[in-house]
Parts: sequence; C-alpha cells; structure tokens
Amino acid sequence: MLKSLLIANRGEIACRIIRTAREMGIRTVAVYSDADANALHVRQADDAVHIGPSPVRESYLVGDKIIAAARQTGAEAIHPGYGFLSENADFAQSVKDAGLIWVGPNPASIRAMGLKDAAKERMIAAGVPVTPGYLGEDQRPDHLKAEADKIGYPVLIKAVAGGGGKGMRRVDAAEDFADMLQSCQREAASSFGDDRVLIEKYILSPRHIEVQVFGDSHGNVVHLFERDCSLQRRHQKVIEEAPAPGMDADTREAICAAAVRAAQAVDYVGAGTIEFIADASEGLRADRIWFMEMNTRLQVEHPVTEEITGQDLVEWQLRVASGEPLPCAQDELEINGWAMEARLYAEDPAKGFLPSIGRLEAFDLGDEARIDTGVEQGADISPFYDPMIAKVIAWGEDREEARETLADALSDAIVWPVRSNAGFLVEALEHHAFASGEVDTGLIAREGDALMPNAKPSEEALADAAAALIGDVPMAGFRLNAAPRTLGTFLLDGAPVTIDRADPEAGSQPTENLLIAEDGQTWQLAHWRAAGGAGGATGDGAILAPMPGRVISVDVAAGDTVTKGQKLLTLEAMKMEHGLTAPFDGTVAELNASSGAQVQVDALLARIEKIDG
Ligand code: ADP
Ligand code: ADP
Ligand code: MG
Repeated sequence: MLKSLLIANRGEIACRIIRTAREMGIRTVAVYSDADANALHVRQADDAVHIGPSPVRESYLVGDKIIAAARQTGAEAIHPGYGFLSENADFAQSVKDAGLIWVGPNPASIRAMGLKDAAKERMIAAGVPVTPGYLGEDQRPDHLKAEADKIGYPVLIKAVAGGGGKGMRRVDAAEDFADMLQSCQREAASSFGDDRVLIEKYILSPRHIEVQVFGDSHGNVVHLFERDCSLQRRHQKVIEEAPAPGMDADTREAICAAAVRAAQAVDYVGAGTIEFIADASEGLRADRIWFMEMNTRLQVEHPVTEEITGQDLVEWQLRVASGEPLPCAQDELEINGWAMEARLYAEDPAKGFLPSIGRLEAFDLGDEARIDTGVEQGADISPFYDPMIAKVIAWGEDREEARETLADALSDAIVWPVRSNAGFLVEALEHHAFASGEVDTGLIAREGDALMPNAKPSEEALADAAAALIGDVPMAGFRLNAAPRTLGTFLLDGAPVTIDRADPEAGSQPTENLLIAEDGQTWQLAHWRAAGGAGGATGDGAILAPMPGRVISVDVAAGDTVTKGQKLLTLEAMKMEHGLTAPFDGTVAELNASSGAQVQVDALLARIEKIDG
C-alpha cells in the first residue's frame, strides 16, 4: 500500500481524498495557490506546498510545479481529483516518467476517451450503442450542415474536446445551423484550443444516465450500478441520484454490461464513468440508451454511489493504484436504498446565478446529511475557482426518504452574506415532476421561474426575527404588549423593511443584528439605526463590476440612448458570462470599459444618466 500521496487539487475533492487517505494511514500532501494559503485542504493535509499565484494557469494547472512538489515532499503518488489535470494524458505520463504513481487510468486510456469523436468510434467498434450522428474529419461548414440535414433536426453540435457542459449548441432548424456552428466553434477554440465539432441527433425527453465502472491492473472490471444526473442547468449537473428512477432490472443489466464493455475496450484501470443519454419518452428502455462520453476520473457525484453500495471509491482508487486487485467482485456488490446529492454553489439564483464571492461570515450545513465540503465558516470565496462550495448527500430506504432528507438539510442551510443556490435546490427537490421521478434534462430551463426562491423571508419569519432583535427593550414609540401594531423599520440585507406583527413574543436579548434562515435562504436583519440609517445610494446609474473579471464585449458607446434592461456589456468571470444591463431608460454618460480589459470588483464600468435628468 502507498505510504504517501500528493493531492493535485483543491476544495471539497481535495478534502474528500485526504479523509480516506488519512483513514488508510497514508501521509497526505496538499498543494495550494496564493488564494488558498489558509484553505481547509491545506490545514487538513500533513504537509503542504505552495505552487504559485491564484490563477489556475499559474498554479493548479502547472504539471511541473506539482511534480516538483511531490519530489520535494517525498510523496509516492499523485491523485488528480476531478477537473484540473485529471483528464490530461500528458500530465499522467509525466507523473509516471518521474517515477511516481498516478492514481488514475493509463495515459493511453485517457487519450482514447479524451476526444468525444474518437471515443465514439472506439465504442462503435466495441459494440456499445452510441448516439447517432456525424463524427467525420471533414469540418467544412457546408459539409457539416449537409450531415445535420441528414440526421434531421433538432441536432446538437458538440466540441470534440468539450467538457463541463461547454461547447454545445442545440439547433432546431436548418436555417439556424450556420450561426450556431460558428458560435460553437468560437467557444470550442477559446475554451479547449480545438474548434473541431461533431454532430449528434438531439435526443428528446433526454435523461442523463451514467454508470460507475472500476478496473484494476489484473484485468478485472466491475460496475457499481447507475446514477441519474438528469437535473441539469445549461448541461451541468445540479442534483444527482442513485439508482435511476424507473430503472428495471433488465435495462440496468444491459447498460451496466455495455459500460463494462466500454471500459474493457480501453483496458481501463481505476475509477471511471460511462455517460449515456436516454430517450425517456416511454420510460427507460435498453434500446433507447446511447453512449455519450467517458470521464476517465473520479466524478463529482461519486458519493451517491458510495452511499448505495457502502463502498469508499477513493479507497478503491488508492488500492488499485497500489497494485491490489479490486476490493469486490461483481457479485459482491449490491444496491442498498437510495441516495441523492445536491451541488451547493456560491451563486445568486435571483441574479441569473451570478457567482457570489466574499467572506463566508456564516456557514452551517447541519448534520442531517453527509456534507463534502472544502470550506468552513470564515473562509473567503475567491473569484479564481469553481463556485461549488459543498455537496450535500442524503441516504434513505427509498427515493422519497432520500429526497425529503436532502430537502430538509438544504432548508436548514445557513450561508451568508455570500449567496447560495440552497433555496433553489429546495424548490427543485420539491417540484412535483422531480418528486415523482419524472425528470428530464430540460426541467430547469422549462420551470426556471417556478424554481426561484422567495426574495424575502415570510412575514412570520420576519416578525419573529424583529421581535427577537428588539428583545425586551421596546423601540421608541412602541409598547411591546400592544397588539396589533407595527414593530418598526429594519434593514433586511441593507434595504429598509417595515415589519408588522400582531401579538409579538419578546425575544431574549436585544442584539445589533441576526440572521434569518428559511427554506435554504439566509438574510440579515439589523436595526435601522445600528446600520447607520437609510442604506446606500440607489438608482444613481453607476454600473459597477460585480466581481473581478474580463470585459468580453461592449455593446454601447458613450452618448448612446439606452432603454431599461438593455445589455451594455458582458463580463467574463468564474468561467461564466455576465451581461450587465441598463437599470433605467437613459443615456450612457460615462463608459470606462473596453473589450479585453481586466477589471476589479466595483470598478465603475459605465454610468447611465436618466433621460429626464
Ligand atoms: P461532467 O459534467 O463532465 O461529468 P462533473 O460534473 O463531474 O463533470 O464536474 C467536473 C467539473 O467540476 C469540472 O469541469 C470543473 O468545472 C469542476 N471542478 C473542478 N475542480 C473543482 C474543485 N476542486 N471544486 C469544485 N469544482 C471543481
Ligand atoms: P460534457 O463533456 O460537457 O459533460 P456531454 O457529452 O457529457 O458533455 O453532455 C453534457 C450534457 O448535454 C448531457 O448530460 C445532456 O444533458 C446533454 N446532451 C449531450 N448530448 C445530448 C444529445 N445527443 N441529446 C440531448 N442532450 C444531450
Ligand atoms: Mg459529460
């Protein structure tokens, strides 16, 4: 067995790997960038090496620095986690060339599955059903269009080097093809440095079903059943579960066997996931499930598989990397109960899921569910990395129990003042279609508004909080025992609110402010005076950068007349594009942004002057 392990990652997955390594008596080494100097993974590891500035290209993505860190600390092996260098075959090879153990598949297996088109060719040869489509070399727009016409609309254009839900365009009609192709190629070139695409039939009523596979260096390959990751936003997973709702034994047998064949076809060693797309218009049927891609690493959602099988997949990875055979044979694995995972992001659903950064003054996810996280209360959420801050995982005897436990755990979440998607996750879990297991990948896009959590706490929660806030000391002009009455004006996250209440119960002690947590959302209620009176200037038309980022387009010029809601410019930050719009009708009185410019948080990008002055 390994004695020491370097984890070439950060956040929750680094902490997750450290936990198992520690249980196995393996010494752990963390790596960290400037922004992560005080991060949880650094404190949890036995040893830690600083590998550079905060941007990933100067730290977590620099293979040489990571290998040097392993050498310097005498680590025997490198675990890449997911994302970052995990699917980089050249890095895997360099690790091996440096005489270190790579906790992952052979570079050749990563390469074989790295490009979606080559992977699909390989799967066709291995007898695995693949999504119908065009995989050819000929990338001329006219040729691609002719192929799309042949496949029949809707089609999906996909970057062959794509990942993370990027570089994909659905095309519903022939006349849209040329534009969509261009925009897909542009995104593919800028995100993956490769503008080649493939075309797939767009599967209607699509469900994302994937199978966890595991191979060892003795030629064994098993599967650990399926997961359903159909609840997605913009092709990115939001809630995952295992097993898949509505999966019968024969269909499970068929797709898990296909997944094992897929892994065997590339001599797979270690943890991997075969992703399938299913046409679920008539339920899950073996002849309507097709191979989509393979992820040659541990998956974000691996905990749901752990919860239903009772296995520790990181332990399996470390045993396999040490040369041991798989801990279990296929017939020793079975499904017990149901598990569901939600990805908790530092983002604001009400602002188009804009990532939210800053200090986590309050962060408490309770103990009702399994929490895999890389942050603690007091941590800073920086703009440099993925905004996922935790995974909340619930187990139940059946789907309903797992779903309710997860919804309860998320309802009680406290995350403040950083915004989180917990309230949105609660709404999604409680949506009737999801609750009844009738989910497809388009649910969030269709139901978007219905899933938006409340902008304010309920009247009742506000009144309780206000009463607690003033404690036994009545505010000027009010008598506590007079009912009904108005408690007064307070500040809710900085904005004035007047709170009415009949028959208030006095709270314990007066305090400056307190947090209201309801249905996954957290607000701060403060005394009007304590916070210094009427909160900040509003409506002055200043357009500030909501976070540090890069301006990628400027859609107006100084002096232009703009209407409320009109897009002014686009900022790229935290791997997403954010459109900044005019707050009211007016003219562009000031414009300080130019395309390509790097801007700091709160930089004044533009100022809109009201038409009527
Ligand atoms: P896929 O959709 O291809 O299956 P996953 O949903 O499993 O991929 O997630 C991988 C994604 O996780 C990466 O593309 C990246 O955006 C994100 N990621 C990478 N590293 C981290 C990290 N340390 N913490 C949180 N998220 C990460
Ligand atoms: P990535 O590498 O970005 O994870 P995938 O090929 O795994 O890309 O696709 C991501 C998501 O896009 C899937 O989970 C699914 O929701 C959707 N998708 C992919 N291919 C199809 C298809 N042919 N028809 C319908 N939806 C698809
Ligand atoms: Mg995928």
